[in-house]
Amino acid sequence: MRVAVIGLGRMGWPIAGHLAHLEHGHEVKVFDIANAASTAWADEHAGEAAESVADAVGQADVIISSLPADKQMQVVVDEALAHIGTGTIWLDHSTISATGARRFADELSSRGAHFLDAPVSGGVDGARNGSLTVMVGGDEDAFVRAEPTMAAYAGRVTHMGPSGAGQITKMTNQICVVGVAQALAEGLDFAINAGLDPEKVVHVMTQGSSTSWEMENRAAQMIAGEYDFGFSTTLMRKDVGLVLDEASAMNVSLPVTALVAQFLADVHALGGADWDWCSLMERQRRLSSPGNRSAPDDSGEPSPAG
Ligand code: NAD
Repeated sequence: MRVAVIGLGRMGWPIAGHLAHLEHGHEVKVFDIANAASTAWADEHAGEAAESVADAVGQADVIISSLPADKQMQVVVDEALAHIGTGTIWLDHSTISATGARRFADELSSRGAHFLDAPVSGGVDGARNGSLTVMVGGDEDAFVRAEPTMAAYAGRVTHMGPSGAGQITKMTNQICVVGVAQALAEGLDFAINAGLDPEKVVHVMTQGSSTSWEMENRAAQMIAGEYDFGFSTTLMRKDVGLVLDEASAMNVSLPVTALVAQFLADVHALGGADWDWCSLMERQRRLSSPGNRSAPDDSGEPSPAG
């Protein structure tokens, strides 16, 4: 099976790496607009660096993309289209709009190929240890054919419905996490201001009804004011923007998500564009809680980034 991987960022690099392992039996060709990334990847793995999108996709049975947003996807699809063979399956792991996913599916269909929108959850750690969750929209037969490829780097892969259904599922995921993270920031800040030991509070709450993925995986960093890791505020703002556009088109009201979108803009303005988005805690500390304006080191800056 010949696989082209386009976009060798924090997610695409390890995904391509898993595919290149001999036991998965894939011939991997990679392309990134930053040529140095393609050659560096090929130096480290059993695979080849392509010179262009056309070179990468020309012989591919499966194309995998992991690109920042709709704009970059459109550039790459435009470059690839004339070079894609009939029956090729394109698995897009980028988080983009559902409208974009449906448009790319139509464009690929005109070449006798299949486009599956397949956004992921699990972050950079999930990509590195091959345990990503993948939510897929598009043709079901193409999904069944693509499943063994995704098994090289994913723990759970689910077909959600027609084109766009994968992206809508990812949006639902993001709606469900943003409000929880903001509530966690407020709760922790409240406990700290009240003079409680926040770590002890978290220890108690993780065994109670308020527990969540955020509490189990992010509370310690929020208490310590450490945000120099993880899923950036910039990426989360992009995802929430996609959600709010889609909700507006559907006439669905998402008041909490819209409010947290504003709070994420505040974090960006505080210098947190690259901080993990659990830095909603930093906003809470500095803007909403006058008695506790700074992280524990009392410098007024989050510990590692500042
Ligand atoms: P990234 O910015 O690290 O990587 C994107 C890569 O695409 C870069 O290497 C860039 O050079 C390359 N690129 C940009 N334009 C290109 C073009 N025209 N042709 C070829 N290559 C091009 O981003 P990432 O963190 O790897 O995320 C990729 C996608 O996965 C995004 O849509 C993101 O929302 C989604 N995602 C990321 C995470 C995460 O934790 N990082 C988690 C879930 C989903």
